[in-house]
Amino acid sequence: MAEYKGVMIYGEAAQGKLAPITTELLGCGRKLADELEQELYSVLVGSNISSLTGEAVAFGADKVYVVDDPLLEDYRTDSYVLAMERVVKQVMPQILLLGQTSIGRDLAPRLAFRLGTAAFMDCIELAIDPDSKLLLPTRPIYGGNAQATFACEFYPQIATVRAKVMPPLEPDASKQGEVINIEANLPPSAIRTKVLDKVSREVEGIRLEEAWVVVGGGRGIGSADGFKQLQELAKLLKGAVGATRPPCDNGWVPDLLQIGLTGKIIAPDLYIAVALSGASQHITSCSGSKNIVAINKDPEANIFRVARFGVVGDWKRVLPAFTSKVKELLAS
Ligand SMILES: Cc1cc2nc3c(=O)[nH]c(=O)nc-3n(C[C@H](O)[C@H](O)[C@H](O)COP(=O)(O)OP(=O)(O)OC[C@H]3O[C@@H](n4cnc5c(N)ncnc54)[C@H](O)[C@@H]3O)c2cc1C
Repeated sequence: MAEYKGVMIYGEAAQGKLAPITTELLGCGRKLADELEQELYSVLVGSNISSLTGEAVAFGADKVYVVDDPLLEDYRTDSYVLAMERVVKQVMPQILLLGQTSIGRDLAPRLAFRLGTAAFMDCIELAIDPDSKLLLPTRPIYGGNAQATFACEFYPQIATVRAKVMPPLEPDASKQGEVINIEANLPPSAIRTKVLDKVSREVEGIRLEEAWVVVGGGRGIGSADGFKQLQELAKLLKGAVGATRPPCDNGWVPDLLQIGLTGKIIAPDLYIAVALSGASQHITSCSGSKNIVAINKDPEANIFRVARFGVVGDWKRVLPAFTSKVKELLAS
């Protein structure tokens, strides 16, 4: 398998810049590439995306492959899988990393199938085996109750990486890189879907997945009004509000705020978990948080098993006291 060389990052854009997940992937890709003494490539697929090549180089890429075609304006599975399959077959990277985003979740397994390899989803750690030089991806298993490290002998070795588990490098504007354009040559007949309309949902404040502080509420909050207190604390800490499934199902908060197996994955520096039990379907997607602080009236609640700090008590008493202390500290 000597012909497979280099570490490739699938780049995503957000608001005319590289998405934070892409700069994070470039940071961890750089380390892996240096360890393998190979190059780091970034791939940009889309329409009018050439303006992002400089940013990709500044964040660590040695080469940027660009597939720029009007047919790639919107993400569509058919066209993006075809474009990426073409790039990977031409470049033959040893490792291909994508974000654990809606695009990465869709692309990675489809590419793996087409390329006759495997994809490791939702990885939280990546290393190189010093002897075999194989990628060793680590991911949560059993609903986040354990972690497993895998090895795959097929190439390219594909992994999707959870947001916020790997820091980006400081951008270096003086870094030089090569830009290589690849023709998409997409046969329109191969694209079976049409985008009829786009509806964007505005999120007030910081996006949950990108927040360094998340205040999450559970069923024990009891109402939409209760969540206003969580919002106050989140705003003070420049963070975002999240929720377990019951508050979303009950319409207390929009379903965009759901954290868990069927919701968002978060890995903030601080997760304040209020009146939620810590069911495995929730924990699996917040276990990457650096510090979990739990407030629950039940001392046996599962959330205390993963929390660094815990307060046993009624949130209606604990949270206002906590919020007013935060206000006092911020004012001083
Ligand atoms: C296929 C599948 C997918 C799922 N996906 C998700 C998912 O993505 N995200 C998710 O969150 N769940 C998901 N669930 C649901 C999950 O199993 C749990 O039911 C859910 O996480 C429980 O939410 P909770 O902790 O808010 O509620 P509960 O388990 O009911 O816990 C409420 C907690 O609040 C505490 N409490 C109550 N009142 C107070 C008070 N006044 N002060 C302090 N503490 C108080 C209680 O002690 C209790 O611990 C999924 C389930 C399935 C089957």
